[in-house]
Amino acid sequence: MLKALTDLNEIVTMKSAYSKDGRNLHPDDLSIIKNAAIVYDESKILWVGETSKLPEQYKNLVQRLPGHVLTPEVVDSHTHIVFGGDRAQEYADRLNGISYEEIAKRGGGILFTMKRTNEASLDDLFNSACERIERLNSYGVGSIEIKSGYGLNFDRELEVSLLIDRLKKKYSPRIQIFNTYLAAHDVPKSFSPSTEYLEQVVLPLLEKLAPLRVIDAVDIFHEKNYFNEQDVDLLFSRAQSLGIARKIHADELNDNAGATLAVKHGALSADHLLKISNDGIKLLSKNSTVATLLPGTAFFLGKPLAPARALLDAGAKVAIASDYNPGSCHCDNVLLVASMAAAQLKINQAELWAGITLNASAALGLKNQGVITAGMKPRFSLFKTESLSHITYNWGRNFAVSLP
Ligand SMILES: [Zn+2]
Repeated sequence: MLKALTDLNEIVTMKSAYSKDGRNLHPDDLSIIKNAAIVYDESKILWVGETSKLPEQYKNLVQRLPGHVLTPEVVDSHTHIVFGGDRAQEYADRLNGISYEEIAKRGGGILFTMKRTNEASLDDLFNSACERIERLNSYGVGSIEIKSGYGLNFDRELEVSLLIDRLKKKYSPRIQIFNTYLAAHDVPKSFSPSTEYLEQVVLPLLEKLAPLRVIDAVDIFHEKNYFNEQDVDLLFSRAQSLGIARKIHADELNDNAGATLAVKHGALSADHLLKISNDGIKLLSKNSTVATLLPGTAFFLGKPLAPARALLDAGAKVAIASDYNPGSCHCDNVLLVASMAAAQLKINQAELWAGITLNASAALGLKNQGVITAGMKPRFSLFKTESLSHITYNWGRNFAVSLP
C-alpha cells in the first residue's frame, strides 16, 4: 500500500554517508532534510524531499507527522538473546571484587548459561526470546542479529538454530531476524583440544543445517583458551564452501590477529576489537569487513573501549552493536549504548548513526537499506522528538514510535 508521510521535522537520509561506503564520515554526511516528506510502498521508497515539493499525485495520501524524526532503520547487528537463566548473581559477585576468571572457575560464565539453556524447555526459550525481541523493537530496532551458542552440544545447538529460524518467520517482515550459527562459542569441558569439539560437533551440525537454509552466517569465539586460528580456518573454509557468510569474535581479550583472519576469509564483520593491532586496523580500512564495536560490554566489565578513532581515521567501516547477552553485557538497547559511547569513543554524529544503521546493515550483509533514497527498501525507525540530536542527547529515554 502506498504511503505518504509529510511535515516530519527531519528525515535523516544518510545519502552522502552511503555514497562514501560508510567511511570517513563528517557530520554533513547525515544528509538531513528538514520539514521533510517521504512516499513509499511495501517494497521500496518512491520519493523523498521537502514537504513543500511533494509531487501532486501523492497529495491525497498525506499523513502529517510534525514533531517526528525518521532515520534509516536501527539495526542491532550483534546479540545473543536466546538463553536460559540469568547471571545477576555473577554480576553482583563481579561488582564485589571477584574476577571474571575466578567466576568462570566456579562454574559461572558461558558454561553456566549453557547449563540453563540446556535445562530450559524450547517453549520457554522461544517465549523469552520473543519478549526480548519486542523490547528491542520498542526502542526502534527493526533488524536484529541473533546468535546461537549456549547449547554447546549437537542436539541443543540444532534446536536453537531452528528456533531462531522460527523467530525469523514469526516476525518477518515487521522485524528482520538474522540467524548466526555460533556453536563455536566456547569449548565444553568434555572436549579437548578445541579442534575436537569443532570436528565432532560444530562442523557436522553445520553440514546438517546448511541444506535447510536456516543459517545466515557462522561465527566463532577466536580467543586464547577458546578457538585458535586453525579452528577459524577450518570453520570459515567450510562455511564458504557451503555459501554461508562469516563473522568473528575478534581481538577482545588479546590481540591474536582476529581482524586479519576476518579479512582473509572475507568475513562480514570482526566484532569487539578492544585489542586490535595497527596491522589489523590497516587491513580493515582497506577491506569491506565491518569493524563492529560493542562498547556496552567494555562498560559493563569496566574495561577500556576499542580504539574507535584509530579505526575511523584509517577509513574502516565501523558499526556499533549491543552484544546483549546474559553475562558480559546485559543491556538490550543499542541506542543507549551508542549514545553513552559516543563521547568516549570520540565519534561524530554521522559516525554514531552510520554505526547503528548503514554500517550495521553492512555487518549483516543486508542490501538496499541503511539509507533513505528512492529505490531503497522502506526500512525506517521513527522517533517522536524534535531532531536527531534530541534522540541521543536524552540518552536512555525512548522516543521510538511505530510507523502509522
Ligand atoms: Zn558476542
